[in-house]
Amino acid sequence: MSEGPVMNHVVERPLPVPDAATEPYWAAARAHRLVMPRCLECDHFHFYPRTLCPQCGSARLEWSACTGNGEVYSFTVVHRAPSPAFAPDVPYVVATVALDEGPHLMTNLVNCAPATVAIGLPVRVVFRRASDEITLPMFEPRSEDA
Ligand SMILES: [Zn+2]
Repeated sequence: MSEGPVMNHVVERPLPVPDAATEPYWAAARAHRLVMPRCLECDHFHFYPRTLCPQCGSARLEWSACTGNGEVYSFTVVHRAPSPAFAPDVPYVVATVALDEGPHLMTNLVNCAPATVAIGLPVRVVFRRASDEITLPMFEPRSEDA
């Protein structure tokens, strides 16, 4: 009698799957660089990646380096893991970070106690390797003069 598939009790985290549109972002992250699409016509940065500039409609876009600095635009503290894969991390902070260049991205705040996070907190990017392919840009507090 078959006993079915062996259950693996180490739960793998879901990770992003790069595609043609997003591979430059992930390649840069593997090299510990944060890049965003920037319009060569109007200099506007945007994120998520699009085929046309949302500011002026130009298709002349280029992946450009960001400073990695920004501030907390909004955040929440997760106390109940959405799946067993995240259980070891609770409580953790999910935040929307407003980059100095303008785009907002959803990310995690790390290297800080959740109770110390506030809207407007200055942050800087850090990189966490999750697999051979995926390194995740996350953010940590920075001093105002950093
Ligand atoms: Zn533009």
